[in-house]
Amino acid sequence: MAWHANIVTLFPEMFPGPLASSLAGKGLSKKIWDISTVAIRDFATDKHRTVDDTSYGPNAGMILKPDIVHSALTFATESAPCPLPILFMTPRGATFTQAMAQKLSSGNGVIILCGHYEGIDERVIEYWTQNHGLTEVSIGDYILSGGEIAAFSVLDACIRMLPNIVHNSASIEEESFYLDLLEYPQYTKPYRWQNKVVPEVLLSGNHKKIAEWQKVQAEDVTRVRRPDLWQAYLNKKTMD
Ligand code: SAM
Repeated sequence: MAWHANIVTLFPEMFPGPLASSLAGKGLSKKIWDISTVAIRDFATDKHRTVDDTSYGPNAGMILKPDIVHSALTFATESAPCPLPILFMTPRGATFTQAMAQKLSSGNGVIILCGHYEGIDERVIEYWTQNHGLTEVSIGDYILSGGEIAAFSVLDACIRMLPNIVHNSASIEEESFYLDLLEYPQYTKPYRWQNKVVPEVLLSGNHKKIAEWQKVQAEDVTRVRRPDLWQAYLNKKTMD
């Protein structure tokens, strides 16, 4: 069975969008994964197909209605080929990580709810969290106009780890975050460019020495750029 993505959105026409190109696109045509969308507006109940309303309180902006989002999510779960984890993309969620991508890609797929306008009525999020294990996920501390662009990031991170998508699985295992560190610097031909040369150790053919050098580089870049990751790495090393 293909890994299945089901996107609950106001803008179904956005999908698969960029995921139809490159690695994900190849995986889509080879049916390693597939995608369907649920258009929230199809679940509106009035003749104007209204999906949102003004917010209670003094705040400006429109909120997606709980009953409409509930019907759309119910349809998405009932039409899924098997039970799938449900994510709601929101800046209030836990930051999406490589570990989350790995866990999702080892399952059967995902249902992603995309918000828009000022967000979604809290009660429907609470209901789906309590009754269906919905998880709130953010892709970073900035505000996008809708959850769709965030969903693309989540899907791309998951899809590239599906079996048979990236030919050289060793290259995935060496990437940043796999070893809890940012990646070491990489080089290709030519040997000299703008008067800068490739580090000599990489030409030595000594795999043990190269691995040691890469580890030191990865540790240095992580310590300097990401003190949070560096501390977590040190803590983990002490516990091992
Ligand atoms: N009023 C909301 C707030 O301050 O948290 C922001 C709403 S935003 C304009 C509209 C939608 O975009 C959100 O409901 C969410 O689905 C999506 N979104 C925006 N930023 C996001 C982020 N950093 N990560 C995930 N989803 C995001």
